[in-house]
Amino acid sequence: MALTGIQIYKMLPQTNCKECGFPTCLAFAMKLAAKQVELSLCPYVSEESKAKLSEAAAPPVRPITLRSNGYSIPSGNEVVLFRHEKRFFSPAGIFLRVCDDEPLETLKEKVKTAAEYCVDYVGIDLRLDGIALQANGGDFSLALNAIREVCHLPLILIGDAPTLSSGIDQLEDGKLLLAHATEENWSEMADLAKKSKSALAVQASNVDSMVSLVKKITNAGIDDLVLSPTQNSLKGMLTANTIARRMALKKNFRDLGYPILNFPGNTADPAQETIVAAQAIGKYGSFIVLDHFRPETIYPLLVLRQNIYTDPQKPIQVQPDLYEINNPGPEDPVLVTTNFSITYFSVANEVESAGLPAWLLVCDAEGMSVLTAWAAGKFDAERIAKDVKRFHVQDKISRRRLVLPGHVAVLSGELEEELPGWEVTVGPREAVDIPSFLTQVVV
Ligand code: SF4
Repeated sequence: MALTGIQIYKMLPQTNCKECGFPTCLAFAMKLAAKQVELSLCPYVSEESKAKLSEAAAPPVRPITLRSNGYSIPSGNEVVLFRHEKRFFSPAGIFLRVCDDEPLETLKEKVKTAAEYCVDYVGIDLRLDGIALQANGGDFSLALNAIREVCHLPLILIGDAPTLSSGIDQLEDGKLLLAHATEENWSEMADLAKKSKSALAVQASNVDSMVSLVKKITNAGIDDLVLSPTQNSLKGMLTANTIARRMALKKNFRDLGYPILNFPGNTADPAQETIVAAQAIGKYGSFIVLDHFRPETIYPLLVLRQNIYTDPQKPIQVQPDLYEINNPGPEDPVLVTTNFSITYFSVANEVESAGLPAWLLVCDAEGMSVLTAWAAGKFDAERIAKDVKRFHVQDKISRRRLVLPGHVAVLSGELEEELPGWEVTVGPREAVDIPSFLTQVVV
């Protein structure tokens, strides 16, 4: 059971020495109860209290990181059920499953294509995280070798203990996820996980069986567990994932406080797999194993994940600066916008793809879009004028001409007062209209 702030406070030294960075022991206790700080910040806790508090201070969802060759996929460590309460921390790792009975050349081609897939989304590289190899009666070691010939992403290995053990020895250092420990084989799988220092996925079809299996495996000394509910329908997976995460976060129920492994596929219908995977990204899937890899379905999943795991209080930003698009000269116009990534890329992409040369002055608006920033007082004439001077725009151009976004036409008069000698033009409201505006109005 989780301890309250007051219960924790009673176990602290109560000297208010401030060494932990908080003004009082009570303030520290409250943060500890909310799982927002580490107990190690207080150097004066007695050993007896430490033992009692370490349980309360442990993260409610155990952090587990899969690794290999410099790649890592963190999971767990979440503290809220809903993103708007704070933020989600560990983006779901997305894997592609291949089987050891596939022709090796086909397998290699599939893995290579998936591993090399990369899309630039508002300046962030979106890509697949790992490969899952399913034992299916083929040569597991050979299939593992074939994967490693073309990619070094983290792995999930799925099969029985003897088969998995035949392949593990040939792998480089790192941390694997082995699947699955079930009621029938958990002892063998636990031994293999212990020997290979791997995480172990525990599979059960209902909460009671899952809890009972987790207890047996943790009693055997394995702590890096991942829950793998058997359900893969929309309703079944949502229920299983939500119960586990809710029990972990709201009741501090340790036996369900682990990352979650989901298999949205197991069907010949890739569209259904994508829908279930999208739900798993939003609702507590930590590792998601797909059976299909197609750019048109992986892309929306990766974008969805990016959006869900972005801190809602910190918009994705680009560096404020004066950017050059299509090698502008001194006569070319200066477009003004804010440093919200999506705004920046919308404007830059439109101008770039139209082949028009322009300067793009990206002002520091604390990562907000044009209208939001203007309404919040973060994008006004004074700030724009300040950035014009800060980035020495006047040194790059011969014609002093700024194009404001149409949504903030109201700033044009004020901006001319802030920047005497500059001509201020009001551009279109939408980025898509910029190319025609530049060719018809500005040039
Ligand atoms: Fe209290 Fe420990 Fe913080 Fe000092 S460091 S104020 S004793 S919690």
